Amino acid sequence: MEMKTARFLGNKKVALERKEKPKAGPGQVVIEVKACGLCGSERPQYLAGFHHHQGHEAAGVVSEIGDGVTNVKLGERVVGYLTGFCGECEACKAGLTTACQAYPEKENMGWAYPGGFAEYLLVDAQNALPLDDSLSFAEGVLLLDTLGTPYHGLRLAGAKKAKTAAVIGCGTVGLGTVIILKSLGVEKIFASDVSAYRLEKAAEFGAVAIDAAKHDVVEFIRENTANSGVDLVVEAVGRPATLEQAVKAARFGGTVLGLGEQPDEFKLQIDLEMRLKDLTFVRSWYFPVKEYYENMELMKDGFFQDINKLVTHTFPLEKMQKACDLFYGGETLKAIIKFS
Ligand SMILES: [Zn+2]
Ligand SMILES: [Zn+2]
Repeated sequence: MEMKTARFLGNKKVALERKEKPKAGPGQVVIEVKACGLCGSERPQYLAGFHHHQGHEAAGVVSEIGDGVTNVKLGERVVGYLTGFCGECEACKAGLTTACQAYPEKENMGWAYPGGFAEYLLVDAQNALPLDDSLSFAEGVLLLDTLGTPYHGLRLAGAKKAKTAAVIGCGTVGLGTVIILKSLGVEKIFASDVSAYRLEKAAEFGAVAIDAAKHDVVEFIRENTANSGVDLVVEAVGRPATLEQAVKAARFGGTVLGLGEQPDEFKLQIDLEMRLKDLTFVRSWYFPVKEYYENMELMKDGFFQDINKLVTHTFPLEKMQKACDLFYGGETLKAIIKFS
């Protein structure tokens, strides 16, 4: 049996292709995909192409289970967890799956194997995490990179204690960060970007928007915090210059959280200001399975204010080209491919 897929060809072109539907081997499940988010992390492949279809923010229904699978049932609603883990080490048993050392190079959905821009997705059974019946598939998608990734970093950074914060970069992770900070009760949140559209959304979610094309972000934050800087700065762009801004915008004794994906060759300069500031620097990547369940409970309780407003566009797989043109062109916030 065949299935429809959409693959990045390079040069911003997307091809709709028919592929053989995957079969569940021992310990694996096939998920009938219902929703899969577009993600900025796939921009390089959108530009350069990739040898199979991607998509790593998928939610759907278990449509086939392999031998020995006990953690999910046929017909169960699930999301796909991005990264490989052994399930047996101490870290995995505690649900701290990103600390698992079994895959030092990481084995990620959509990169190491075909992802969710397809009608069916084959994963290790333990990577299929149950999604509560009260939540939509789109909300399942939001629980992954959009909320899971920033909230993991924010937990490590002790964001609960912050009274003031700044978010540098208002892509979906940055805006997810604004929403979490607001939901945690952080009193003053600054958010910077160069896109008027994203800044408008940041303001709608309760942040003081800073147009980085018009203002010096660091100066603006200092001027509006009696020259002290903020308790917590979250960098969600992935450029050396914005990480430097983050260091400068933090107050003495403050915390800087790096969420953006800096280029591999980037080295952080420890300059005088940073050396004298008693800073705590937190760098995190994705989130452990344990927190998926915690975040799902919070979502059920309505903790994440305005979260559904983050999804501005949905498209069928057949419109993947249009979806990518708009999403990577900066004309959408979270864009989700939906399957009927
Ligand atoms: Zn993503
Ligand atoms: Zn492990």
